[in-house]
Amino acid sequence: MTFADLRQKLKSGEVSSKELVQEKINRIKELDSTLNSFLTVNTDEALSKAEYVDKQIASGEPLPALSGLPLAIKDNLCTKGIKTTCASKILSNFVPPYESTVTKKLLSAGAIMIGKTNMDEFAMGSSTETSAFGPTLNPWNISKVPGGSSGGSAASVAAGLCYGSLGSDTGGSIRQPASFCGVVGMKPTYGRVSRWGLIAFASSLDQVGPFANNVSDAAEILQVISGKDKFDSTTVDIPVPNYSEFLSKSIKGLKIGLIDNCFEHEGLAADVKEYVLGGASLLEKLGAEIINISCPRFNDGIATYYVIAPSEASANLARYDGVKYGFRSNDAQSLIEMTSKSRALGFGSEVKRRILIGTYALSAGYVDAYYKKAQQVRTLIRRDFDDAFHKVDILLAPTAPTTAFGSGENIDNPMAMYLSDLLTIPANLAGLPAISLPCGFDKLGLPIGLQLIGNVFEEGKLLQVASQFEKAAEVYKNRPKTDFTL
Ligand code: GLN
Repeated sequence: MTFADLRQKLKSGEVSSKELVQEKINRIKELDSTLNSFLTVNTDEALSKAEYVDKQIASGEPLPALSGLPLAIKDNLCTKGIKTTCASKILSNFVPPYESTVTKKLLSAGAIMIGKTNMDEFAMGSSTETSAFGPTLNPWNISKVPGGSSGGSAASVAAGLCYGSLGSDTGGSIRQPASFCGVVGMKPTYGRVSRWGLIAFASSLDQVGPFANNVSDAAEILQVISGKDKFDSTTVDIPVPNYSEFLSKSIKGLKIGLIDNCFEHEGLAADVKEYVLGGASLLEKLGAEIINISCPRFNDGIATYYVIAPSEASANLARYDGVKYGFRSNDAQSLIEMTSKSRALGFGSEVKRRILIGTYALSAGYVDAYYKKAQQVRTLIRRDFDDAFHKVDILLAPTAPTTAFGSGENIDNPMAMYLSDLLTIPANLAGLPAISLPCGFDKLGLPIGLQLIGNVFEEGKLLQVASQFEKAAEVYKNRPKTDFTL
């Protein structure tokens, strides 16, 4: 069911918003003690807001697009009066005094916030295993990770615990978990969506975006959260098109570029390759022209990212000092000791690793060799994309090199963990919009994600291709049965 179907049912009185919310709360109670996709469930407020929407419906008022629909929010987006932890001990008692712009916009569009979702601590990770509050499990197979860092937002949609959610994507944290959980996930162009109230990780890369069951719902969420925000000077003041209008457009004549370098990679799983190339053939049948494109610097993305992102993180995370807010160690004799102990006990080991790498890369004597060099390579990656978009409209690649890996499999091997973002990071470095959508299931019954990357501010074209693909591929028809998915 799409948001449009649900809206129809709400309007005709076939179902009430309270019923929708209650059904999701029941399902959360039943499944989430296992999946752990929520850190906070907003039961009472969600139900009372649903009652309010039901009254509005009964009175015949025209209602905004997302009225009465229960959505979930990643726990790095500040929600006024509702705990926002970033899945870290250091923020375990943080209740924001303000609302992030994106959640404010969703609430104004009538959405009901059903809860805050689990994630890797400070959005650093690819498996939702670095959360201070325990890992989230993959609904398709609970021995597998849901991806990360927005694993809770992806798993909650895949398990039918909400109708859609928000995540954040710094190096792939929306697309990779969307791929692992078999849902649609989209990272907008840098500057399309406000980050005001998003707890910063790497500010030149972070973007907020939607998770949904289908492309049309993702387009609706994007529509609501997009646009210039006076509180975020990195948002760009260009009109937001009507994204839903793109969904039914034919893709005849569009040029789609297969990024060669992605398909040559030795770590690419055979069935991922097969299904994603199968996806390209399907797009060709729908009238698109498939062209091979080389982005020579694509595979340098990982090395570049793992200098830039930790550098920015080390600066952003300096604010957690045990003084202003968050966890404080009381077992200290001096200010310096208090700050060191608060940080030592409050942060988990992946976060500390990033702070150490970043501090090192930015220190005098190394900044030119590492940080500056990484920024130069970043420019080259961006130029590869610029060249590519002179030849094609959209680029196509797998979202992740493999399907969901096993819980614990990569947790002690940061290198292996980092490599799972190989195919998503370049879009962040270049600030481009990208979407992941399901294109099949592997032999183990785990979902495979296909990634489309667009030129800046061409979210509409991305949604157009994604929607035509979704309609033709009918991936959901062959989904395996599990205890945790619908
Ligand atoms: N997995 C990547 C990292 O750990 C990306 C995270 C993200 O996009 N937030 O940095």
